[in-house]
Amino acid sequence: MPATLDELVAIYEDLHRHPELGRQEHRTAGVVAEHLRSLGYDVAQGVGGTGVVGTLTRREGPTVLLRADMDALPVQEATGLPYASEATAIGADGTESPVMHACGHDVHTTCLLGAAARLAADPRWQGRLLLVFQPDEEGGGGAQAMVDDGLFVRFGTPDVVLGQHVAPVPVGVLGVRSGPAFAASDALRITLHGTGGHGSRPETTVDPVVLGASVVQRLQTVVSREVAATETVVLTVGSFHAGTVANVIPDRAVLGLSIRTTDADVRTRVLAAVERIVRGEAAAAGAPREPEIETLNTFPAVVNDAAACDRVREAFAAEGRWVVVDPGPVTGSEDVGILADAAGAPCAYWLLGGADPALFASATSVDEIRRVVDGLPSNHSPRYAPLAGPTLESGVAALVAAARSWLA
Ligand SMILES: [Zn+2]
Ligand SMILES: [Zn+2]
Repeated sequence: MPATLDELVAIYEDLHRHPELGRQEHRTAGVVAEHLRSLGYDVAQGVGGTGVVGTLTRREGPTVLLRADMDALPVQEATGLPYASEATAIGADGTESPVMHACGHDVHTTCLLGAAARLAADPRWQGRLLLVFQPDEEGGGGAQAMVDDGLFVRFGTPDVVLGQHVAPVPVGVLGVRSGPAFAASDALRITLHGTGGHGSRPETTVDPVVLGASVVQRLQTVVSREVAATETVVLTVGSFHAGTVANVIPDRAVLGLSIRTTDADVRTRVLAAVERIVRGEAAAAGAPREPEIETLNTFPAVVNDAAACDRVREAFAAEGRWVVVDPGPVTGSEDVGILADAAGAPCAYWLLGGADPALFASATSVDEIRRVVDGLPSNHSPRYAPLAGPTLESGVAALVAAARSWLA
């Protein structure tokens, strides 16, 4: 029963040592299910692929959904920790890569197991706990897969959706923001068609490398020229693949785009601008075929409910152990909003400080704190390493405090 901090740290180190990519979280799901069963929860595995659902019902009362994600990333760990990952896995593209819990989802999973234990041992509440251990957050498909597999039909609809993401701010700090808190995310694959040929005779070709370069340049004007400076938009071309050797002009180029927005109308405008520019540049280049624009994944902004956030803040304040701040809008994204939207329930999703407070000891102003944060390895870095014990203790307590404020 993972109730003590030592037991939680052992679970965390085990999960960290054995990370699994999205949709492959078989071992992790097994560990989660075994612990939940030992705590007396009703457990269902294989929900939306590798998802796990644990429920515990005590008389009448509200249903509280607590959510953790379980997947890791194709990153080669460089933390030097004694429990560092040496795992590899075959990704969706068929290539083998190292795998690491570089986003801290092992923290989320362990904290939710800790909260499950403490709430199961606490006789003072009534209602229903709906614990959701979600696969494949990074791919953006895990929450939707669980909804599509009948999550709320089979296990009931929650009155609130609660969860947290570990971040490189000091342990003891929690970030709660009402309204749009995490950006919407759209990942696109754009295939630009040209006409290949000999590198010495470009006049006989339509060069997709030059076309792709124009598209990349022109896309930079979407944020700078088409969106108001007061709006939050990120447009990144994260991949550009074309050609194999210097003396052959290839017949196509493939771009990977990541777009982050916080406002639905702005998102619509940005996506339309991307399509217009891609089609316009292809026409200007004399491309033999229309470009293809595919959506690889899309998830909405996480819009935190104001009343739910107030309630969570009050619960945190009553414990007196945290500094609770408004972190401002985060351009990172999260698919937890899909769970809340599908359930029609308010959402409160907060940031959990996971960095060693000693690193901030000499900082005396907000600017200095920010400089320390900017210098720390962030989520997705091969060196990302939350301070395990204190972070888990804080994360478990935060989940329990928030859940209890509905279940009291
Ligand atoms: Zn991530
Ligand atoms: Zn994450």
